[in-house]
Amino acid sequence: MGPPGAGKGTQALLVSERLGIPHISTGDIFRANVKGGTPLGQEAQKYMDAGEYVPDSVTNAMVRDRLDQPDTAPGFLLDGYPRTVAQVDELAAMLAKHDAVLDHVIELTVDLEEVVDRLVKRAGAGGRTDDSEEVIRHRQQLYADQTAPLTAVYQEQGLLRRVDGLGAVDEVAARVLAALGI
Ligand code: AMP
Repeated sequence: MGPPGAGKGTQALLVSERLGIPHISTGDIFRANVKGGTPLGQEAQKYMDAGEYVPDSVTNAMVRDRLDQPDTAPGFLLDGYPRTVAQVDELAAMLAKHDAVLDHVIELTVDLEEVVDRLVKRAGAGGRTDDSEEVIRHRQQLYADQTAPLTAVYQEQGLLRRVDGLGAVDEVAARVLAALGI
């Protein structure tokens, strides 16, 4: 977990490679579907472009399908999911079905103003359609309102590990691995 621009995707990829488990990024799956012009992509794109969350029913169904794939049996890393209370509940049900448990929840903490500055500068370089300053600020607000409160749920369950997300990629990666006890 962590606000947009905290470096979640980069760290998630490094950790999943290190552990040899699939990296399941809901944002990546949505973007691949948008690119491929699938019905799921067409549905998701309007929300993504506006910096809104894709509806829970759509997102949950997609994750359910992904977790049903056999490559998740040895373990998996979720990146960008869950993001809402409904997704937390649905994930718990999916895990129960697979006789699986969450081992850790990592939260990357960062200075919000710094992250917004960085994202706005990157937006100038082009790329993502959810990159206008207004959309960037909206995505941060959505995270603060809907997703940040979820960390309390995982803290209560003793799963939350807070990691300082400020610094070079490999420095942050070393902190994440240490938090995982690796
Ligand atoms: P990300 O790359 O994780 O920042 O995700 C990019 C966009 O995909 C988000 O701004 C949302 O529109 C959508 N998205 C990704 N994950 C979720 C999720 N768990 N729930 C709802 N929407 C999501």
